[in-house]
Amino acid sequence: MASMYHSTRSTVKECSAKRAVLDGLAPDGGLYVTDALGETSIDLDRVVAQTYSENAALILKTLLDDYTDEEISSCVEAAYGNTFAAKETTPVVSVGDDYVLELFHGPTSAFKDVALQMLPQLMSRAAALASERIMILAATSGDTGKAALAGFADTPGLGITVFFPHGGTSEIQRLQMVTQHGDNVAVGAVHGNFDDTQSAVKRIFSDKELQARLREQGIVLSSANSINIGRLAPQVVYYFDAYAQLVRQGAIKCGDKIDFCVPTGNFGDVLAGYFALRMGLPVRKLIVASNANNVLTDFLTTGVYDRNRPFHKTISPSMDILISSNLERLLYYMSDGNADLVAKLMDDLAQTGRYEVPTDMLERIQAIFSCGFAGDDEARTAMKECFEETGYVLDPHTAVAWRVSQNTPKADGVARVVLSTASPYKFCRDVCRALGLPAEGNDFDCMRELESASKTEAPEALAALENATVRFDDVMDADEMPLYVERKCGDLL
Ligand SMILES: *Cc1c(COP(=O)(O)O)cnc(C)c1O
Repeated sequence: MASMYHSTRSTVKECSAKRAVLDGLAPDGGLYVTDALGETSIDLDRVVAQTYSENAALILKTLLDDYTDEEISSCVEAAYGNTFAAKETTPVVSVGDDYVLELFHGPTSAFKDVALQMLPQLMSRAAALASERIMILAATSGDTGKAALAGFADTPGLGITVFFPHGGTSEIQRLQMVTQHGDNVAVGAVHGNFDDTQSAVKRIFSDKELQARLREQGIVLSSANSINIGRLAPQVVYYFDAYAQLVRQGAIKCGDKIDFCVPTGNFGDVLAGYFALRMGLPVRKLIVASNANNVLTDFLTTGVYDRNRPFHKTISPSMDILISSNLERLLYYMSDGNADLVAKLMDDLAQTGRYEVPTDMLERIQAIFSCGFAGDDEARTAMKECFEETGYVLDPHTAVAWRVSQNTPKADGVARVVLSTASPYKFCRDVCRALGLPAEGNDFDCMRELESASKTEAPEALAALENATVRFDDVMDADEMPLYVERKCGDLL
């Protein structure tokens, strides 16, 4: 029997995993979940004996079981066959007394590659079945846009259009996007800030007339948002694979419990750790690390989620989030599948920006999740101290998790893995400043400073941006975006 998916807000209408991957969001605005989670336990001895790709196939097949074995293995080969620069795909390295799980060896040097190399593969197999052609739309403040472009480039039946705020990203991030190769990609800069760009994309998604015109040509619009189950499932893999690496390294015995500390924004990454736990991975604690936007620290401490607070722009921008969308899935599972309760909490959030979970539910959450936050100064101190003590360079997001991990009590003999979500070279100016290195020149000068101080090499793709050819120089107003999308649907699909 294929595991069926339904909304977190209602269990009435069910659909296949493929449909859930194509839709992204459930029709009632909820997130797709399956009640089959945890029914199948993953065999740890098998995981320890397998490669990353074999583990990816095993876990994806368990979570998305209407894909055939052949489909899954071709997805895995296309996503991870030769796209990651590390032999282990996501290597675990020993740093001080702890371990760092490096998730950033993919084509754009950020952990989002792990999911966004896979999602287009899953989507294109599902779209072929539904004979749809899909245009992915994304608004980005930097990281997601490039990872999505790299994942969707040249995927059959799919196109992608990414918008970013003109002048609103780092120079490296802009170059990463405007130099993207592929016959099915488009990139446009938009006058205004990120919110203006994102609001305009949301308006396109609710523009019924535009969508009707596209549908006549067999084209549907979709998003590569992190709430898609096809982005979450691939992230479960590296929790199992990290465990396997620790067993093979002799750091733990198979069956020992371990901790994970996760730099968190939208709650997708750490939720994948919870999925792994439900699928049989021996986890003691999942530690949710936030930056100054510490809405999750407060929630996990008090049971009150309240987004009515100032928004802080930090040196860990991918964690600058006040609504952690994927938390909705945790609420569903932690209330034993009480969709009515989840619907009510999400309604409270929409109406008042706030909700509170029942005490018994909070206690169940706290039995698994610890939390903490670190501001920019603490993250800078963490980067400096870690480098001076161990020679290892943390990026600003990983530094938040590193600091929070240091502040969170350990249990005797329990290994701790800190998830590293970006290469320090992606944020080399802030890293150089934190380490006390010169940071006056352009981003590429900072890269070279960091290379010589740390005796490591910048990822090839980032260094090559200095001389890469710019393919996209479109700049537009937000109200020109719908027409731009319609034109690109014609050109690219
Ligand atoms: C997206 C991102 C995060 C946050 O991950 P979530 O799944 O949104 O919690 C952390 N660090 C980096 C570098 C990211 O790009």
